[in-house]
Amino acid sequence: MTIDFAARRRRVRDALGDAGVDLLAVSPGDNMTYLLGYRPHPDERPCFLIIAAGGEGMLVPALNAEEVRAHVDLPMETYSDAEGPAAAFDRLAAALGIGSARTAMVEEPMRADFALLLQERLGGATLRLAAPVLAALRMRKRPEEIEALQRAAAMADEAMRVALAVVRSGMTERELARVVEEAFMSRGAQSAFAIVASGPHAAYPHHQPGSRVVQAGEPLLFDIGGGLDGYQSDITRMAFVGEPGEEYLTVHETVERAVRAALEVIRPGVEARQVDLAARSVIEEAGYGAYFTHRTGHGIGLTGHEPPYITSTNDLILDEGMAFSVEPGIYLPGRFGVRLEEIVVVTGSGCRVLSELSRDVYVVSP
Ligand code: ZN
Ligand code: ZN
Repeated sequence: MTIDFAARRRRVRDALGDAGVDLLAVSPGDNMTYLLGYRPHPDERPCFLIIAAGGEGMLVPALNAEEVRAHVDLPMETYSDAEGPAAAFDRLAAALGIGSARTAMVEEPMRADFALLLQERLGGATLRLAAPVLAALRMRKRPEEIEALQRAAAMADEAMRVALAVVRSGMTERELARVVEEAFMSRGAQSAFAIVASGPHAAYPHHQPGSRVVQAGEPLLFDIGGGLDGYQSDITRMAFVGEPGEEYLTVHETVERAVRAALEVIRPGVEARQVDLAARSVIEEAGYGAYFTHRTGHGIGLTGHEPPYITSTNDLILDEGMAFSVEPGIYLPGRFGVRLEEIVVVTGSGCRVLSELSRDVYVVSP
């Protein structure tokens, strides 16, 4: 993947100017990866990439300086653990001409102590969250990013196939989660998550897999994902150990219709909330409205959950290149839950689903 990171930073600088903001600061994390193609190890030592009208530069703890220089060609100020970051930050601020900045944007995931250091060294500049600038850029994926998401999704399909092939009653949720994680890791994924929820646990949308043993006659929810070249995947499918009963099938079919209703409305020019409402109204009309307890989806890219958020109130206009999940669910406390999740990319006239896996319930023999 060849990406022009300097061009991304130029777009940030232009957007800062339009917003009347003096500078943007990001710390080691996905925003820094987006803007530099690299990020140093994150820890408690303050580390910033700063983009300002007068230039860009980094504050880097000395122990990481050589490594950062090997990846990034930007002016840099460094400090030792004994010195601390204050004087080095002041030198960087002087070089960038931001000593008397009035408004600074900070990324949402920045540590509070980093943000407070920034505010103190900038003499009490007003800090604002960076979403209006950064999210606006990151939401619209370029073709090379969509290709990366497609590759990540194909790997998640593979991991899901592996998990579904081994499910048997008598296995624990944790064992199945390990199968999923191993499937990702052995294919070169950087990290993986695996929500494996059996029976009544599937009624917890974010269940943490534990020692519960999978039993015959109950559903299993797999919500899994991993990163490939930094881009994330996220997919949810349902299995059933034995023959599913009528009520399970009714709930599953309702969630499936909600997914389809959402997919049908997605295209450029539609508001995010219309996607949520399309899914939600199917579930409400089926009488399960009270049991769909979360938004319909979230954006995905370098970060697993990022803008745009597909809620019933978000009036953001969808645009070509946006990538997000469609994942309605119905959760019946103490009994079971069903969620089906697709990652989609908005195309010129609709949307493309990245997974090739059927959303039908995977019936496995006990
Ligand atoms: Zn998920
Ligand atoms: Zn998701």
